[in-house]
Amino acid sequence: MITVDDYFMGRREQHPLALSTDIERNATRTVAVANALMARAMGAGIHFDSNPKTGSPVSSGWRPPAVNAATKGAATNSKHMTGLAVDVYDPAGKIDAWLLSERGQQALVDLGVWIEDPGATAGWSHWQIVPPGSGRRVFHP
Ligand SMILES: [Zn+2]
Repeated sequence: MITVDDYFMGRREQHPLALSTDIERNATRTVAVANALMARAMGAGIHFDSNPKTGSPVSSGWRPPAVNAATKGAATNSKHMTGLAVDVYDPAGKIDAWLLSERGQQALVDLGVWIEDPGATAGWSHWQIVPPGSGRRVFHP
């Protein structure tokens, strides 16, 4: 399970001017949906480890614009900036593999989660609670 504090990664304090009530509201919902998805995966035997760099399963949560701009490979319109996306630590790709399974795909539909194609997310699993422009459940960033 992850917390809203895990999601913000200390950045609320570091970048207070980039924060808004919309972002905080989005983050609360993203964390709740992520926890529901984690519960579904755990029910299927998937284990979540903490990223040693963050101390939680969150590899990347909220990104203020300055952080996003400095993040290698980050999209300029990343949903991380608006609190609508989270990267979950997935060093061996087991979480992504489960999300591509029939049960995993059903969980994504049930909970309203879209993921980036695992081929583009080695080491983490990107989850967002709004659809990408393509509308595809598994999309290329
Ligand atoms: Zn991401």
